[in-house]
Amino acid sequence: MVEAGGSPVPAGDAGPVLDAELFRRWLVAAAEAVSREAKALTDLDAAIGDADHGANLDRGYAAVRARLTDGSAPAPATPGEVLVTAGRQLVATVGGASGPLLGTALRRAGRALGDAERVDGARLGEALRAATTGVREMGGAAPGDKTMVDALQPAADAYDEEFARSSSLLAAVRAAATAARRGAEATGPLRARKGRASYLGERSAGHLDPGAVSVALLVEALAAVCERAAGRV
Ligand code: ADP
Ligand code: MG
Repeated sequence: MVEAGGSPVPAGDAGPVLDAELFRRWLVAAAEAVSREAKALTDLDAAIGDADHGANLDRGYAAVRARLTDGSAPAPATPGEVLVTAGRQLVATVGGASGPLLGTALRRAGRALGDAERVDGARLGEALRAATTGVREMGGAAPGDKTMVDALQPAADAYDEEFARSSSLLAAVRAAATAARRGAEATGPLRARKGRASYLGERSAGHLDPGAVSVALLVEALAAVCERAAGRV
């Protein structure tokens, strides 16, 4: 279909515009979700770790949010720059195992986006994969080791599968969020093989992995802002 002015209008699902502002809104939404769930995340970490995951992340995402919204530093101009800036902020403020890992995830995703002003569905899938690869390389965890990889890897896989099937960014990002949540829920019976929880051996089974749950919050926030931007909710 072509408009009177001659600019092409895609048929069907035009999808949301993924510009720097949308990525900024994503991280603000993630900060709100982490703040809301901070106590629950810390309780999960109390069961199999050292009871700091919620507090660590709340501090880190609050710093990201401040950096992206307070106007005292120049606003990152592209989606890639937003993610690299946020990743640096997480590394600097979260500490523990999850700070460097999540910071690497966001920085790698940002680098995969390059200096594009807007991100399309294929690029978003590449960014999710780059984030997952970055975490796996840095932490050495594979799916099934009861870590954040158990949410990230299924999210990246589900995104790719759905995008290949439907070419819809919205459907793919929703599939990623659902897969991340399912992956996090499936960590319950697993025995931890990486990170602090692995010191517990068999006793780590029976509790969800806090890092997998916080990654699910992050991917769910992305799906929600994309849906809002597309006027779906
Ligand atoms: P710490 O374990 O240093 O206290 P946090 O409590 O903030 O750090 O984060 C713990 C989470 O980090 C775990 O639930 C797990 O998801 C993740 N994690 C720990 N080690 C690894 C690893 N090697 N690879 C991937 N994720 C890891
Ligand atoms: Mg901890």
